[in-house]
Amino acid sequence: MTPLSASDVRASFINTSLRERKAVTFPPDFDTLAWADLDYLGWRDPKLPDVGYVITHLEDGPAGIMLRKSAGQTRSRPQCAWCEDVTLPNDVLYFTAKRTGPSGRAGNTVATLVCANFECSSNVRKLPPLAYSGFDREAARLERIAKLELRSRTFVADLRCAE
Ligand SMILES: [Zn+2]
Repeated sequence: MTPLSASDVRASFINTSLRERKAVTFPPDFDTLAWADLDYLGWRDPKLPDVGYVITHLEDGPAGIMLRKSAGQTRSRPQCAWCEDVTLPNDVLYFTAKRTGPSGRAGNTVATLVCANFECSSNVRKLPPLAYSGFDREAARLERIAKLELRSRTFVADLRCAE
């Protein structure tokens, strides 16, 4: 994704209050992120264990959302809805995100199952197993990268559809 400055990120949030936006703690490696290897920027707040953030690029510019870890239990082997990784290299959790504007302030949220520390971008960059003889693993890898970018953008964009 196109690199963003910390102030770009802070200004991009679409479903947070001013207070929540000011409380955002950036990931410790923010200054050295490999942006080219990210389809979205996602991290858990180092100071707020139940809070995570996802930043994407939408047609009209960067758009960031705050998510909260949901109290609900996940199935024993859940799959991330964004990267759909089948090798389960990491935990997958339920997160909920507030819709934007009045709808979100009224308590409307959308739930999704995502990698616990937003590892999706690194998951989809791994070369997939050889599914059958002649299977184009590199093409499959590129397709997964494209799908992850689309799914993460769609989730963020849909949070503001209800306005
Ligand atoms: Zn994932």
